[in-house]
Amino acid sequence: METKCSDLLFADNIGNFKLPGLVVNQMHRYRQVKSNMPESGGLLLGRFIINSPDVVVDEITTPLPTDRSSRFHFRRGSYGHQQVINDRWFQSDGTCNYLGEWHTHPEPNPVQSTLDIASWQMQLDRLPANQNELFFAILGTSSIAVWKALRQPFSYYQLILLP
Ligand SMILES: [Zn+2]
Repeated sequence: METKCSDLLFADNIGNFKLPGLVVNQMHRYRQVKSNMPESGGLLLGRFIINSPDVVVDEITTPLPTDRSSRFHFRRGSYGHQQVINDRWFQSDGTCNYLGEWHTHPEPNPVQSTLDIASWQMQLDRLPANQNELFFAILGTSSIAVWKALRQPFSYYQLILLP
């Protein structure tokens, strides 16, 4: 798990959410394994698979100097990350989308905080009218969890990590 990560597949009763090993690897560099490491995070970018309920993360953004973070808090600055969303969307003819957000927690098995839920709702409210869902990943020191959140009406649930 330290250097090479395998693909992770999360599921609900609708479809699968895939985090490729390369992406997991990239997140792992920010795992808060030392007591002085701050929370980190960024965006999840990828594809809604055509004619299928499946979603694949192709890329993540990682902390930028404009983000603010501490041991128990991460708040991303909007400018640089938003720029990446815009660039990728144009470069890919609209197939590379903003899928959600990820951040780290200094606990083995991450649990969503009230602050996290409030921020999920805020991100959903900013979506264009034709998008109703986002994914949120939290990387703990020994496991990663993914939630799917829906805008109308606001609700969220954790996806199951498939073996
Ligand atoms: Zn959090």
